[in-house]
Amino acid sequence: MHLRPHHLLLVLSLVISTPAFARFEAVTCKNAFTVPQEIAEGNKVAAQVYAQMPVLPDSDPVARYIRQLGARLVASAPPSPGTREVWPFNFHVVASEEINAFALPGGSIFVNLGTIQAAGNEAQLAGVMAHEISHVVMRHSTCNLSKQQNKQVLYGLGSVLSSVLLGGGAAGSLAQAGIGLGQNLDFLHMSRDDERQADLLGVGILSDAGYDPRGLPQFFETIQAKYGAGGAQLLSDHPNPGNRTQYVNAEIATLPQRANPTVNTAAFATAHTQAVGERALPAKEVQTGAWKRSGQYASGPNGGLLTTSTPATQPATSSTVSTPPTLAPLDRRALGLDGAMTSLAVPRYTLRYPAQWQKSQEASGSISLIPPGGGGPDGIAYGALVDLAPQPGKGIADSAGLSDATTTLVKKLVAQNSGLQQTGAFTPLTVGGRLAYGVDLTGRSPLQNAGAPLPEHDWLITVARPDGDLSYLVFIAPQRDFANLKPTFSAIAASFQPR
Ligand code: ZN
Repeated sequence: MHLRPHHLLLVLSLVISTPAFARFEAVTCKNAFTVPQEIAEGNKVAAQVYAQMPVLPDSDPVARYIRQLGARLVASAPPSPGTREVWPFNFHVVASEEINAFALPGGSIFVNLGTIQAAGNEAQLAGVMAHEISHVVMRHSTCNLSKQQNKQVLYGLGSVLSSVLLGGGAAGSLAQAGIGLGQNLDFLHMSRDDERQADLLGVGILSDAGYDPRGLPQFFETIQAKYGAGGAQLLSDHPNPGNRTQYVNAEIATLPQRANPTVNTAAFATAHTQAVGERALPAKEVQTGAWKRSGQYASGPNGGLLTTSTPATQPATSSTVSTPPTLAPLDRRALGLDGAMTSLAVPRYTLRYPAQWQKSQEASGSISLIPPGGGGPDGIAYGALVDLAPQPGKGIADSAGLSDATTTLVKKLVAQNSGLQQTGAFTPLTVGGRLAYGVDLTGRSPLQNAGAPLPEHDWLITVARPDGDLSYLVFIAPQRDFANLKPTFSAIAASFQPR
């Protein structure tokens, strides 16, 4: 298109008239915790939250909705400055009537049922969650703990976190302390400046995820009007830094204007109705612990799909995770199956994969690509693993060499993964212009149903590299979902270029 001069002027004046202020970027801080430490310590605290608070099981429709909403927001969250790792965000619902939410270091986010019940639309609820995600991205908990570490350095980090967060040690148990976990957490961790930063980054995430960013300030204003400043835990945990509405609105003005930002969805309406119908426990009842006997609440985290701490390097494992009694249907959007692709370029190859998926690299060089929630401490339930099998000495020269190398690799994988079996012959393929084989295997998914691992379908692709070594990709999904993921897996394989 040729721009005539007056069009050019129009463009220039538009550029000039945009605000001169840039949007808020995630900030960094001095932090004594490594990312794996932070994740490990956060997981310990998460286990204690489950022990001390009534957390809905992952199979609960409201919990499922919160996980999906969380995954949508996480896809638009920036990485933490100065770290390459991706936080294993996971989302949980506490059956507490307090209007509150809190984030643990490493990415476990808890939203109270009372908050979901009080939200007027999805943008408001997403605003609270984006604010909590922002605390994780900017590592506020561990930054603040790092500042105090000279006082506490003799303690194990986990005991520091859990005793402070949960009122343990001399102060006694959470119940004896008689105060809400969230209140305790923010008492230690969140300064006014932390809150301001989480608001500013939060509205950016909200907007990038396609929501009306005004959802965040609206929710705070709504509950303030309804309950007063002291009436809702969310407000006392998130003290109004004074000119919140003013600075949040100024931040929103720096964000791209959207024609039709999401304010509400049918999924919210359904989940909200469901949440209103569920019983939210008053604080006193939470503290007595009597709810533990009901058997209604989850006994621990890792309820399945949406915990993604350290992805295992093996395509399937025989270890177990506790599981929901019923499994959620495949959510294409949460798994990023219909979204944009992005590029991965490492010294030995390039490929493309769904932009929403999280990449992590092991020290060995093995790379896993996992949709939000697709992996957990017990293995990868959905995703891809890309690795290299060096062929010292001989190197692969022809299809017989590739066949031998593939046979050796399959044997190794089968030996390392209990229950893994080859189920088909080698299928000749061409990948990146190179000779390749496809092999189907079955295994045991880390996902379970009624205590038994779901059958898993693994698709192995081996590629004869120009340098004689073997590149391979393993695509992983529960058998019931494999056909739905196959087009995405094929697209990744088709983009693979050894170099
Ligand atoms: Zn906060």
